[in-house]
Amino acid sequence: MNYDCLVVGSGTAGIYLAWRLAKDGYKVLVIEKDKDEAISSRLDILHFGYDGYEKFGIPAPSKDSAEFEHHFLYSYTSSALDTNRKKNYHNIYAIHLPLMNKRMRNLSEKDGVTYLYETSFEEPIFNDNNEIIGVKAKHNDKVDNYYASLIVDASGIPSVVRRSLNNPYMEDFEIGPKDKFYVTLKYVMYKDPKNTTIDCQSWPYYKCWIGPFKDGGGIIGTGASTSFDFCKKMQAKYESKLPRPEYTVDHYEYGATPYTRCPYSFVAPNFLAVGDAACMTNPMSGEGLTYHFGFIQDSLPIIEKAIDTKTTIDNLWDINVMYNRGFYKDPVFLRALLASFMQMSEKENETLYKHNIIFKNDEDPEPNIVKELLSALFKGEMSLKTIINLTKAVLTASKLKAHYQSFPSNPNDYFKWVEKANKLWNKAGKITDGDFDAE
Ligand SMILES: Cc1cc2nc3c(=O)[nH]c(=O)nc-3n(C[C@H](O)[C@H](O)[C@H](O)COP(=O)(O)OP(=O)(O)OC[C@H]3O[C@@H](n4cnc5c(N)ncnc54)[C@H](O)[C@@H]3O)c2cc1C
Repeated sequence: MNYDCLVVGSGTAGIYLAWRLAKDGYKVLVIEKDKDEAISSRLDILHFGYDGYEKFGIPAPSKDSAEFEHHFLYSYTSSALDTNRKKNYHNIYAIHLPLMNKRMRNLSEKDGVTYLYETSFEEPIFNDNNEIIGVKAKHNDKVDNYYASLIVDASGIPSVVRRSLNNPYMEDFEIGPKDKFYVTLKYVMYKDPKNTTIDCQSWPYYKCWIGPFKDGGGIIGTGASTSFDFCKKMQAKYESKLPRPEYTVDHYEYGATPYTRCPYSFVAPNFLAVGDAACMTNPMSGEGLTYHFGFIQDSLPIIEKAIDTKTTIDNLWDINVMYNRGFYKDPVFLRALLASFMQMSEKENETLYKHNIIFKNDEDPEPNIVKELLSALFKGEMSLKTIINLTKAVLTASKLKAHYQSFPSNPNDYFKWVEKANKLWNKAGKITDGDFDAE
C-alpha cells in the first residue's frame, strides 16, 4: 500500500505531524519500534506552556485528569551564588508525557492515522536516483516494505533514517555524547512538607533546577553534557553550595536531550527530519515540544503542497528557508554563545545577572551588551580575558545569525553556504568545550 506520508517514530513529533496531515485528509502510517504501552515511558513529568495547546490545536488536559499534575505561573533563573534572580511569567503545565502521548495517538487515530507498533525501521528503500521512496521495517522477525511520497524521520536521538540516507542534502551525524545533555531528575519528598516546590527555579551555572512534583515534594533536575556521572557531579556541587531543605528521595529518572545545532537542511528528496532527530530543542533549557510543534505547524502548507505535486528537494526547500531565516536564527545566536558562558567563574556569572547580560526580568529593557560588559570590566567584576572571550563569542554568534538569515533560497547555493556555516560553528565551539572537569 502506498501512503502519502510514512513517519518513523511515535514520540510527540511523529504523532503531531501524522495527526495534522491526517486531519487534512492525507493517508499516514506511523511505525514505532516499541509496544503501545511502553511509548515515551522513559520520561514521566514534562513541562509544556499552556498557550501551546491552543496555538498547536491540541486540546488541553482537564485538571482532574491523570495526565495533569501541576501548573505554575512564573519561574526564576538565579545566579551562581543565588544573590540575583530574574523572574519570567508564563503559564506552564506539568503533565505526564506517556499519557499526553497516548491521548494524542487516540485523537490522531480517530482522524485516520494508522499505527504499527513493535515495528522497527531496518533500512531505507531507494529509487535509481538514490532517493528514498520507502522503508524496510521488521515486525516479529518479518521484514516488510512500506512506500510513501514523504518519509519522515521522527525517531528521536537515534535518527535512524536521517543517518542512513546517504544524500548530500542531509547530514548523517550521530548525536553523540558531546552533543547531548544528560538529564537526571531526582524526585524528592521534603521532611517538612511545607517546603513543597510550587514554581520552577534554575541555576544555569550548575546546570540545575527545581520544579514542582507532588504536594510536599519537588524535582531536583540536572542537565549536564558528556555523561550521567558529570551530571551527578554538578548536582552534588549545586547541593553543597545551595543546600535544599532536608528530603528523602522518591525516585530517579534519567534521559538525554540533543544539545547541538540542527542539521542545516531538514529536507532531502522525499524526506523530512523532525523533533529530536533534527535536534529541535531550546538551547537554554533543552525543551523540545514547543520547538517541534512550531516547526511542524509552520511547515505544514509546504509539506502538503509538495505531497500534492511532488516531494522533490525544490518543493520542500522552503521549509529550510523559513526555519533557518526565521525562527531558528535566534536559537542559533544563543547556542553559539553558550560555550563561552560555560567557562566563567561563579563571580563572573553573578555579574552577568547583575548587568542583565544574558538573563533579565520580563519587564527589564533589552540590555546594551557591549556597554554592560565594559561597565563590568571597569568595575573589576570581570577579567579582561573573559570580556575578550565574550566579545569574540558575541561577534561570532552575530555573524552566524546573519548567515542563517541569508540561508539560500534554492538548493544549488546550499553547499557554499554550508562551508561558511561550518567555519563559523567551529569558531563558536560546543557547549561541552567548557566542561573541563567532565570525566
Ligand atoms: C529528562 C528530560 C526532560 C525533558 N523535559 C522536557 C520538558 O519539560 N519540556 C519539553 O518540551 N521537552 C522536554 N524534554 C525534551 C523532549 O522530551 C523531547 O524533545 C521530545 O520528547 C522528543 O520527541 P521526539 O518525538 O522527537 O522523539 P522521541 O520522544 O524520542 O520519540 C522517538 C520515537 O521513535 C521510536 N524509534 C526509535 N528508533 C526507531 C526505529 N528504529 N523504528 C521505529 N521507531 C523507532 C522510539 O521508540 C520513540 O518512540 C525533556 C527531555 C528529557 C530527556
